[in-house]
Amino acid sequence: MIWQPLNLTEACPPYTPISACSDFGLVYLSLLVQLYGGSSDKRKQQVCEREGRKSKRHSEYDFIVVGAGAAGCVIANRLTENPKWKVLLLEAGPEEPDVTLVPGLSTALLGSNIDWQYSTEPNGKSCLAHPGGRCAWPRRRYVWYRGKTMGGSSSINSLAYIRGNRLDYDAWAALGNEGWSYKEVLPFFRKSERNMNVEALDSKYHGAKGEQYVSRYPYIDEPSLMLTEAFNQGGLPLTDYNAAHQVGTMQAQAVSLDGERVSTNIAFIQPIRNKRPNLDIETNSEAIKILIDEDNNAYGIVYVKDGKKYTAYAKKEVIISAGSINSPKLLMLSGIGPKKHLENLGIPVVQDLAVGENLHDHVTFNGIILALPNKTSTAVSEEEILTAVKDYAKMKFKRGPLSGNGPVNSVSFLKTDPELDAPDIQYQVDHAPNWREFIQDPITAENVAIMPTAFYDAVIPRTMNLVPKSRGVLLLNETDPNGHPLLYPNYFGDERDFIPLLKGVRFLLSLEKTEAFRSRGAYFVRQPMPHCKHYEWGTDEYLICLMKADRPGNTTTMVCHKALLLCSGLKCGCRCNYRHIGLTPTPQVDGHRVELRRTSPSHTLLAAKCSF
Ligand SMILES: Cc1cc2nc3c(=O)[nH]c(=O)nc-3n(C[C@H](O)[C@H](O)[C@H](O)COP(=O)(O)OP(=O)(O)OC[C@H]3O[C@@H](n4cnc5c(N)ncnc54)[C@H](O)[C@@H]3O)c2cc1C
Repeated sequence: MIWQPLNLTEACPPYTPISACSDFGLVYLSLLVQLYGGSSDKRKQQVCEREGRKSKRHSEYDFIVVGAGAAGCVIANRLTENPKWKVLLLEAGPEEPDVTLVPGLSTALLGSNIDWQYSTEPNGKSCLAHPGGRCAWPRRRYVWYRGKTMGGSSSINSLAYIRGNRLDYDAWAALGNEGWSYKEVLPFFRKSERNMNVEALDSKYHGAKGEQYVSRYPYIDEPSLMLTEAFNQGGLPLTDYNAAHQVGTMQAQAVSLDGERVSTNIAFIQPIRNKRPNLDIETNSEAIKILIDEDNNAYGIVYVKDGKKYTAYAKKEVIISAGSINSPKLLMLSGIGPKKHLENLGIPVVQDLAVGENLHDHVTFNGIILALPNKTSTAVSEEEILTAVKDYAKMKFKRGPLSGNGPVNSVSFLKTDPELDAPDIQYQVDHAPNWREFIQDPITAENVAIMPTAFYDAVIPRTMNLVPKSRGVLLLNETDPNGHPLLYPNYFGDERDFIPLLKGVRFLLSLEKTEAFRSRGAYFVRQPMPHCKHYEWGTDEYLICLMKADRPGNTTTMVCHKALLLCSGLKCGCRCNYRHIGLTPTPQVDGHRVELRRTSPSHTLLAAKCSF
């Protein structure tokens, strides 16, 4: 089997009330492995190999693309449109396992073998409920989720199709990044989008003929609709946040089709794989060095597959799309980074640049529980959960609870100050299978959120600060530079980051009086969480205590530095022939900083915009 789930023995403490940590958790995960642990891509590849149709490994290509994630899959597709260009796509992880296709199992992917399982370093201001102030230790090993499989994080994420904000692209352009204004990037969003919903009629903002399917799930449950209604009644307009106005609320458009996930692997690679002879794909192949000559030209990649080292050469360009964490790591391993840091590690310096700096993450608060009474709760028995999992596997046309993604699909954007030009808060909503268990051991509950997102008796609305001011840094690990890098997100390093979060949480709490919540009997659980029980529930002190106590991120991370910027098509001006594509190039020019409020696969689909 390709997929190995979260190791419950490691993730669960000896005594916890959380049901996922019981024998049932093991039975459930074994069933998932049995039904969905294989990979249809792998099966197809094996057939191709048997029939001698699989392309052979070459040593020289025109382009090498490192990382088959949200960005890399698009790039590989676009480059191979030109039959004269030979392209190698390298992916560190395995083929995309079937379990990723099931929207309702999205949280079961976290902490599994297709997640890089990064952890963070302490700063004394966050993760304080965790031993050592380190969200990652001893059991919380999986703080920073990142996809490690074909499709990358687009194969493990929450499937919501959300673009960046117009303002951010315009600000990029204003800083001199020609071609990156909203008006100029919009055609590329449209080009890749195949919207199957009513929004497709709005051809100014949406595309209907691209590769990336976007559609609402066949199954949307009552509490999710309730949430959208409540945000609306609380004052947020119903909106299409991928169109003219982002502020508002909506049932998210999802990267899905007919009740299944459509990762960028499925959208951009599957249709061309083994059909375009100029595309070679190597999975389980981790790039460990960019080869760069004396003239600063990248001419190849060294990578490791099955314990053996290989070298591939690029005549034209090496494209780094290894994600916000591994791209800077790879640059540094290749000698592009802060001189002192590289010298300490004995890495010959090719270029002294602030790679890894300006690390920032959309700091998140998830300490409020909205309980649902029996009439609205979707919780079911253990037996019914197993039945739903089996039923979905049998269905030709995927329908029912697992064909949706529970409440996470209720997405809202808020401006906490009317003077702001764009939203600074986004809400997305997690499911809590059993809130009475959750409140006793929230840390374990979040760690082992493996149960289907369809079944829950409470929701945990996540309030996300889209414009964090805190900045951290990413460094190579001195004891093992090739291992996981050291991530210092420095959450709440700048205390101003509490302000939008507090305002956002206050808005959330105000929704209790809405007709949507009242008519369904939904209510906020006013029992303090264990690690902040010395404060009165709902006070600023209580909320700040919770923000500091628990995991504040992470789905969207950005690392920025000028090398990435210069070579990314954003302000492309240097001579080097490697490019970085993906989420990391938040522009920073002459000390000015521009934030990207939303980072997402849809944003990285803009990779398609880079001209070659
Ligand atoms: C849990 C989670 C939920 C999210 N939910 C949403 C959501 O609902 N909506 C949304 O818009 N966004 C969401 N995101 C964010 C979104 O998925 C990412 O922003 C996006 O996928 C990043 O694209 P990328 O191409 O930069 O990196 P990735 O998609 O992470 O791809 C990087 C790829 O490079 C590979 N790689 C890394 N290092 C190497 C190496 N050395 N050699 C070879 N290959 C390598 C990785 O294995 C990976 O496949 C979520 C993210 C996570 C983690």
